[in-house]
Amino acid sequence: MVPSLLSTVILAMTVLPATQACNFHMQRRSNTYSNPHARRDTRFQRRAEEIDFEYVNSFDWHTIKPEYLTCFTGTSQSPIGVHSTQGLATTHPPSFAGYQTTTNTTGTFKNWGFGPAFDIDMVNEDPTTLPAMTFDDQTVFLSGWHIHFPSEHLVDGVRSAAEMHFVHVNAAGEPASVVGIRIEPSVTAHSAFFAQVPAAIPAPANPPVEGTPGVPMDHLLAIHEVGMVQQYWTYKGSLTTPPCSEGLRWFLPQMTLKVSEAQMLALRGAGRFSHRIEQVVMNQAINV
Ligand SMILES: [Zn+2]
Repeated sequence: MVPSLLSTVILAMTVLPATQACNFHMQRRSNTYSNPHARRDTRFQRRAEEIDFEYVNSFDWHTIKPEYLTCFTGTSQSPIGVHSTQGLATTHPPSFAGYQTTTNTTGTFKNWGFGPAFDIDMVNEDPTTLPAMTFDDQTVFLSGWHIHFPSEHLVDGVRSAAEMHFVHVNAAGEPASVVGIRIEPSVTAHSAFFAQVPAAIPAPANPPVEGTPGVPMDHLLAIHEVGMVQQYWTYKGSLTTPPCSEGLRWFLPQMTLKVSEAQMLALRGAGRFSHRIEQVVMNQAINV
């Protein structure tokens, strides 16, 4: 199912020279939600905005331009470290019943510039047609996912091999909540969720270019593979990429999503180093 790293890279460079557009957290919104033309344009090689930050200086992103000042001055930034001694959350329990009504959604499989990513198709550009997650009295909508290497969040000081961000937006299309799923390889595991990922994973590029549209993906599988997020930490945090905007609710499942070593090799073969430096805990209100 999953090709070797070499064949993955060759496929990415030959069959799909045009990997894909846009970024992850915030830029996706500007490239996609507010630009309906981008949604209708399925030609390959349409390039998105150039990524203007690098991970070698993620402690200094605020010096790139004034719009990134929050990356340094914010008081509820992400990622952070959480600890078993803090206990798990009983607050803001998330429900994924709204994912079940939208299984086998389609979308565009791409590379966000630092790893595999997926943008879910909307109906009539309406975010409320996306898979829904609820917590408290809020409903938010899964716009897509992307993967960081290694994990951004630390648990008991330990960093996992990778972390997938399920980014949820509000009805206006603004980022509102992220489920941060840590990924680890296991000799006995094979992830049904990642078995859906096309064999040819687009390679990183800057600016990212468009990927493969029309790919079916059941996102509830990933939620199942981390115990339906019944055991979790939660806190108030930020985008982990510039402009580091705050006000997002994070959910960190205690379970890691286990993939086979071949699956991990294929994912990492399309990745770049992409974890932001650990942020100081100030007003994140962990599990509150
Ligand atoms: Zn992310």
